[in-house]
Amino acid sequence: MSQTWCKIYDAGNALEAHSLKGMLEAQQIEVQLSGEGLAAAAGELPANVVEVGLWVKASQQASAQRLLEQYERADQAGWVCSGCGEHNGSQFELCWRCGQDRLAEP
Ligand SMILES: [Zn+2]
Repeated sequence: MSQTWCKIYDAGNALEAHSLKGMLEAQQIEVQLSGEGLAAAAGELPANVVEVGLWVKASQQASAQRLLEQYERADQAGWVCSGCGEHNGSQFELCWRCGQDRLAEP
Protein backbone atom coordinates (compact mmCIF):
# COMPACT_ATOMS: atom_id res chain seq x y z
CA MET A 1 0.00 0.00 0.00
CA SER A 2 1.45 3.33 -0.96
CA GLN A 3 1.32 6.35 1.27
CA THR A 4 1.80 9.93 0.24
CA TRP A 5 4.57 11.68 2.11
CA CYS A 6 4.54 15.42 2.68
CA LYS A 7 7.45 17.63 3.54
CA ILE A 8 6.50 19.66 6.58
CA TYR A 9 9.73 21.29 7.65
CA ASP A 10 13.20 22.27 6.53
CA ALA A 11 15.60 21.89 9.39
CA GLY A 12 18.70 24.05 9.27
CA ASN A 13 20.96 21.17 10.22
CA ALA A 14 20.99 17.46 10.92
CA LEU A 15 20.96 17.95 14.67
CA GLU A 16 17.73 19.93 14.58
CA ALA A 17 16.22 17.45 12.14
CA HIS A 18 16.98 14.56 14.45
CA SER A 19 15.61 16.24 17.55
CA LEU A 20 12.40 17.11 15.69
CA LYS A 21 12.19 13.57 14.36
CA GLY A 22 12.52 12.20 17.89
CA MET A 23 9.89 14.62 19.16
CA LEU A 24 7.40 13.58 16.45
CA GLU A 25 8.13 9.88 16.80
CA ALA A 26 7.45 10.15 20.49
CA GLN A 27 3.92 11.15 19.41
CA GLN A 28 3.57 8.09 17.15
CA ILE A 29 4.23 10.06 13.99
CA GLU A 30 6.41 8.39 11.41
CA VAL A 31 9.16 10.62 10.06
CA GLN A 32 11.53 10.38 7.12
CA LEU A 33 14.48 12.69 6.65
CA SER A 34 15.70 13.84 3.27
CA GLY A 35 18.92 15.58 2.35
CA GLU A 36 21.25 13.80 4.74
CA GLY A 37 22.08 10.94 2.45
CA LEU A 38 22.88 13.29 -0.41
CA ALA A 39 25.20 15.34 1.74
CA ALA A 40 27.06 12.29 2.92
CA ALA A 41 27.40 11.02 -0.63
CA ALA A 42 28.80 14.32 -1.80
CA GLY A 43 31.30 14.11 1.04
CA GLU A 44 32.26 17.75 0.80
CA LEU A 45 29.69 19.78 2.64
CA PRO A 46 29.79 19.85 6.41
CA ALA A 47 26.56 18.47 7.85
CA ASN A 48 25.60 21.77 9.42
CA VAL A 49 25.14 23.69 6.17
CA VAL A 50 22.86 21.16 4.55
CA GLU A 51 19.15 21.56 4.99
CA VAL A 52 17.35 18.44 6.06
CA GLY A 53 13.73 17.98 5.09
CA LEU A 54 11.27 16.36 7.45
CA TRP A 55 8.62 14.26 5.76
CA VAL A 56 5.51 12.74 7.28
CA LYS A 57 2.63 10.72 5.94
CA ALA A 58 -0.20 12.81 4.53
CA SER A 59 -2.58 11.23 7.03
CA GLN A 60 -0.43 12.51 9.90
CA GLN A 61 0.47 15.85 8.44
CA ALA A 62 -2.01 17.91 10.45
CA SER A 63 -0.94 16.53 13.81
CA ALA A 64 2.73 16.83 12.90
CA GLN A 65 2.22 20.44 11.89
CA ARG A 66 0.57 21.19 15.21
CA LEU A 67 3.43 19.61 17.15
CA LEU A 68 5.95 21.63 15.17
CA GLU A 69 4.10 24.84 15.96
CA GLN A 70 4.13 23.97 19.65
CA TYR A 71 7.81 23.19 19.38
CA GLU A 72 8.56 26.54 17.79
CA ARG A 73 6.55 28.43 20.36
CA ALA A 74 8.30 26.64 23.21
CA ASP A 75 11.60 27.40 21.54
CA GLN A 76 10.90 31.11 21.40
CA ALA A 77 9.91 31.11 25.03
CA GLY A 78 13.30 29.77 26.02
CA TRP A 79 16.21 31.84 27.27
CA VAL A 80 19.87 32.31 26.49
CA CYS A 81 22.41 31.77 29.24
CA SER A 82 24.36 34.92 30.07
CA GLY A 83 27.30 32.78 31.15
CA CYS A 84 27.96 30.56 28.17
CA GLY A 85 25.45 31.70 25.56
CA GLU A 86 23.68 28.35 25.45
CA HIS A 87 20.00 28.33 24.56
CA ASN A 88 17.82 26.73 27.22
CA GLY A 89 14.19 25.66 27.10
CA SER A 90 11.72 27.70 29.11
CA GLN A 91 11.22 24.80 31.52
CA PHE A 92 14.79 25.05 32.82
CA GLU A 93 15.73 27.39 35.63
CA LEU A 94 19.43 26.58 35.39
CA CYS A 95 21.59 26.41 32.28
CA TRP A 96 21.95 22.79 31.30
CA ARG A 97 25.47 23.39 30.10
CA CYS A 98 27.15 25.47 32.80
CA GLY A 99 24.57 25.48 35.59
CA GLN A 100 24.24 29.25 35.77
CA ASP A 101 20.99 30.64 37.10
CA ARG A 102 18.52 31.89 34.53
CA LEU A 103 18.33 35.34 36.14
CA ALA A 104 22.04 35.78 36.76
CA GLU A 105 23.61 38.99 35.51
CA PRO A 106 26.35 38.66 32.92
ZN1 LIG B 1 25.36 28.44 30.51
